[in-house]
Amino acid sequence: MLKQLAIILSMIVFIASIAMAQDKPEVKQKQESTAWNKVCPIDGMPISSKVATVEYNNHVYGFCSNEHAVQFKQDPEKYAGNLSDDGAKFIGEKEMQHEQQGKEGQG
Ligand SMILES: [Zn+2]
Repeated sequence: MLKQLAIILSMIVFIASIAMAQDKPEVKQKQESTAWNKVCPIDGMPISSKVATVEYNNHVYGFCSNEHAVQFKQDPEKYAGNLSDDGAKFIGEKEMQHEQQGKEGQG
């Protein structure tokens, strides 16, 4: 009896593996222009896929926010240097932020 159960179980596993193999989760989505860099060249924050990319110097740059994309366009040479050669790290100097800890929101 146990042998039968083992056979049935192995068959279920076999069928399940076939079923899973049919719809592979590894669908390559490369329709959208993928950003070359991993962090925002303005402030080193992780880039957002929702923000439009900017092409500069044969690289597609991604940004953490639309504002930084605009900022980059104004002076791409300056900000492009903030990224490491592979675009994975922020190596530049972050711009000074005026507000350290804004007290906002009441209630
Ligand atoms: Zn940013």
